[in-house]
Amino acid sequence: MELSFKENVNAMVDGAIRVLGLDEGIAKALKACNSVLKVQFPVKVRGRVELFTGWRAVHSTHRLPAKGGIRFATFVNQDEVEALASLMTYKCAIVDVPFGGSKGGLLIDPTKYNRDEMQAITRRFTLELTRKGFLSPATNVPAPDMGTGEREMAWMADTYKHLVPEDINFTACVTGKPVAHGGIRGRTEATGRGVQFGIREFFRNTKAVKAAHLTKGLGGKKIVVQGLGNVGYYASKFLSEEDGAKIIAIIERDGVLVDKTAGKKQGIPVEKVHQYMVEKGTLKGYSSAGVEFLDKKAGQKALEIECDILIPAALEAQITKKNAKRIKAKLVAEAANGPVTFEADQILKKNGVTILPDAFLNAGGVVVSYFEWVRNISHIRFGRMQRRFEEAKGLQFASALERLSGKPLRKSVKEDLASGPQEVDLVRSGLDDSMRLALQEIFETKKSVKGVDDYRTAAYVVALDKIARSYLDIGVY
Ligand code: NAD
Repeated sequence: MELSFKENVNAMVDGAIRVLGLDEGIAKALKACNSVLKVQFPVKVRGRVELFTGWRAVHSTHRLPAKGGIRFATFVNQDEVEALASLMTYKCAIVDVPFGGSKGGLLIDPTKYNRDEMQAITRRFTLELTRKGFLSPATNVPAPDMGTGEREMAWMADTYKHLVPEDINFTACVTGKPVAHGGIRGRTEATGRGVQFGIREFFRNTKAVKAAHLTKGLGGKKIVVQGLGNVGYYASKFLSEEDGAKIIAIIERDGVLVDKTAGKKQGIPVEKVHQYMVEKGTLKGYSSAGVEFLDKKAGQKALEIECDILIPAALEAQITKKNAKRIKAKLVAEAANGPVTFEADQILKKNGVTILPDAFLNAGGVVVSYFEWVRNISHIRFGRMQRRFEEAKGLQFASALERLSGKPLRKSVKEDLASGPQEVDLVRSGLDDSMRLALQEIFETKKSVKGVDDYRTAAYVVALDKIARSYLDIGVY
């Protein structure tokens, strides 16, 4: 029998617990989900009353608020929500974001409802979460996940504002909002951008690259991506457009687009394909030179295509004991949560496949959510105080250089020196720094801690060590 998602995460965490030699009681407390809310509520849709079921799990409150996305999908269940909440706790610790872990889900097929209906359902779910103490800027802050985005976050923030108008920090009750409603520039693409920054940092470590049987440099690397949603789209777009990697297959729910030249030419044009998918809701029918569409059956098999990097960015449990031995990628970059099961993880490891784990690699979303939350509770846009000041300083520096050298600087150099950072520049720089430092800590742990021989265990050792320390420092009451 396959392990459940929660059992899979716990089995992986157990490896790190053994390495750290944690006290049995602390280990149990670390893995347990602190509280779970299940709500069932009616909404009138097209004249009929429909009953909806949703959950919000809080895994850890060792830091507050607890943070984690809300997904709208047809397969959400309590086990999944609890597993995802625990991943959030570990994720925040790995990238040094001072939040606990939480996750929510609503059992719904969002494609079956129009905008007004989705608004009514989302607002009612928000009311349930707020009234029961599972939504607040101080204690529990959701974000987008599968099936949700800026639109849902704006509805949630607005509903909370009407329910708790005396909370001066009401915009901070959710992150991932549209910029016009308290969001931050760079949040929408943050998870995909974080995947790019994480992979870039991996390629900066020549020893790690060699050990993964890869050649140096991201340029020309062949990538297969599963899922062209928020995370998969931005990750594959940035890696191909900015780092010169080649996307040789895009797997979606209804089939797969394959580069017939297997990366010998330019690879699949991600932006064009994404535009097509947004318009048509499917990859079927997309045509361009050298690219062919294969049906759903070929989609699952496409995970097994020979490539340098496989980026699962859709669902959990995509690589299991059934297909793990046929995976030919050298590096599996877990952009989705839980795409590799515990048993598959062991098989891939045995076969020499390197894994960059989800708890590190897809943490970009929560890093930028943290920036958004800080922006909301400080009620000021990042860069507002210093941008012009830094521009003036840069201009003074450029003038001093010109005076000393007796020659005018080139216009582009002068412009570069005299430009202060905009909010999106600061967000990107903070995200890059967070991903780089986190991977460096994982590299160091893998190298120096006895019994750690893969990046997933190293990442969990980093996380558990920080969380356990926080329990032990403060004490348990
Ligand atoms: P999304 O809903 O925007 O995209 C998911 C994509 O996967 C869709 O395009 C969907 O059609 C496709 N898909 C669904 N079933 C598929 C299948 N069987 N085969 C291939 N493709 C399939 O969701 P997202 O926000 O991009 O999230 C994707 C994953 O990343 C999830 O595991 C999520 O938990 C994780 N994640 C998301 C964020 C975020 O900020 N959005 C942050 C961290 C982790």
